Amino acid sequence: MVIDRVLSGDSRGEGEEQFNYALRPKRLEECIGQDNVRQKLAIAIQAARKRGEPLEHILFYGPPGLGKTTLAHVIANEMGAAIRVTSGPALTKQGDVMGLLSNIGTGDILFIDEIHRLSTPVEEFLYPAMEDFKVDFTVDSGLHAKTINFPLKRFTLIGATTRAGLLSAPLRGRFGILHHLEFYSPQELTQILRRSAVLLNLQADAGTLELIAQRSRGTPRIANRLLKRVRDYAQVKGAGRLTAKIVSDALRMEQIDELGLDELDRAFLRALATVYGGGPAGIEALAATLGEERDTLEDVVEPYLLQIGFVRRTKRGREITPEACRHLGLKIASPKGPLPQKELFEEDV
Ligand code: ADP
Repeated sequence: MVIDRVLSGDSRGEGEEQFNYALRPKRLEECIGQDNVRQKLAIAIQAARKRGEPLEHILFYGPPGLGKTTLAHVIANEMGAAIRVTSGPALTKQGDVMGLLSNIGTGDILFIDEIHRLSTPVEEFLYPAMEDFKVDFTVDSGLHAKTINFPLKRFTLIGATTRAGLLSAPLRGRFGILHHLEFYSPQELTQILRRSAVLLNLQADAGTLELIAQRSRGTPRIANRLLKRVRDYAQVKGAGRLTAKIVSDALRMEQIDELGLDELDRAFLRALATVYGGGPAGIEALAATLGEERDTLEDVVEPYLLQIGFVRRTKRGREITPEACRHLGLKIASPKGPLPQKELFEEDV
């Protein structure tokens, strides 16, 4: 069961990139929420500028759609630096990194999204680049292989990952600044939506943006995406203005409930409750039952369900909580005893 998700974490899709770009804050003072991260970044940026030095390497981690890419661009703007954007899976060989690094200027930023997906050789190639601003590049192969030591300009690497735990210790250790991005409060999301509505020239009745914010799972990307869907709905079914009825009808059509859960979240919880008797169930087993990618469940579905206390993660697997059963109107499941040994070894929880 692959469900078209309005709530999916990634930003791909028709027009989505442009839409995101238009709504993306450009300066630190335009960013809403993440107060702690913003304050620390503001200090680091000011200090680096005063010293006339590039920033230390920075790692952002947290669920998709919380603003990691946005912050990388904001930092580049604040530092007056150029930014080059790439991603872990796009850098398949050392030559790909070399191509980027050899053209990078002093103080410029290299942004690597999904940095946990770098291959080991590429990652190891990056170590001296990050630490000593040089690389050992091998040209030719076999008998003619030669290693050339290539000095680089002092640049700043900004890495983004949804899973800091998957980063190797040596890579993690080479970042001077690490920031965990948290889910946003409904009030912060309302502020973000207010800003977006102004940029989109959208009229909204009092209380309507709050309705969208409450159903956005603490995630600005989802809030903006819902705003876009609601705007379309208002244009077709109404006079273009957001009213309480338009918003709730549009969200109902998207099958998003009052907590912001969509069909895939509910399917996940239902599978856990009914197929696995409330759990514990391993993520691979759940992915197989739902016909979904394990990564989607771990990156996009679970973090919010964990945050609102609908799922518990134990050593033996995922368990549903009574709150989740109540929300779905299911008989409250009592988690099972220990898993049979065989299952324990097969499942990677
Ligand atoms: P990530 O890289 O973590 O997946 P993005 O940086 O792509 O997330 O953010 C998704 C969208 O959310 C952006 O296009 C932007 O419009 C919005 N956004 C993110 N963070 C903020 C913020 N602090 N304030 C306002 N809008 C934000």
